[in-house]
Amino acid sequence: MTPIQSAIDTVPRQPLRCIGTFPVQNGNEDYPLSWDDWECDVAWAMRFLNSRNIGKGDFAVLVSTGHEAPWYGPLLDAASLLKATICPLEPARFESMRAKMFFTRFPISAVIGLDQELCAAIEQSMSLKQALGAVRSILVRPNAFKSMQVAELHAEVMAPIGPALGLPCAADPRVLHLNEAEWEVAAGADGLVMKARTERALGNDPIHIATAVEWLADSRCSCVHGHIALRLK
Ligand SMILES: [Zn+2]
Repeated sequence: MTPIQSAIDTVPRQPLRCIGTFPVQNGNEDYPLSWDDWECDVAWAMRFLNSRNIGKGDFAVLVSTGHEAPWYGPLLDAASLLKATICPLEPARFESMRAKMFFTRFPISAVIGLDQELCAAIEQSMSLKQALGAVRSILVRPNAFKSMQVAELHAEVMAPIGPALGLPCAADPRVLHLNEAEWEVAAGADGLVMKARTERALGNDPIHIATAVEWLADSRCSCVHGHIALRLK
């Protein structure tokens, strides 16, 4: 324990770790996360990172921005707990030179959350193939998947799906799984309906999510992340 930790422990915590927002069918919904919600999401992210052997000795580029904390924050914490070295970037063009610095100076072995805007900037500054050619594990946002294909790079897709984080199936890089211990998912008449299974700060009301997702009902996945298989439309 560091000296600062004991001081931190004396300060009473607010009940919420953070508040985000996600699109639903009739607008946006506030997304409060308690500290317990967060820890639970970190544990699930750790399980995923372990499955991709991301941990000590890895230099991991994590592309996210502040308001995405409910989805990307647990991944960041999980990578830190696993003692990976984080190289943080934001999903924006202005990050192109910092991205170039990371990819040039460090042996980056994992990239998480790369989006199309930063992808295009990297392609312009040093080429995607040169930046990512030696990276062991590439997880991109859906809008960057095409660029990966064009550059002939193997990448997997990740995406927030309503309040949950969709992480790629080990068997199919375009199939997403959610943490099924936390989220109940049902196919509604006009899209996916989700509900927290546990006592999350968000509550347990059904959520009619706005993300266009296809439920692959016939999929019988045997990878460790989940049984429900989803694909973004
Ligand atoms: Zn799977």
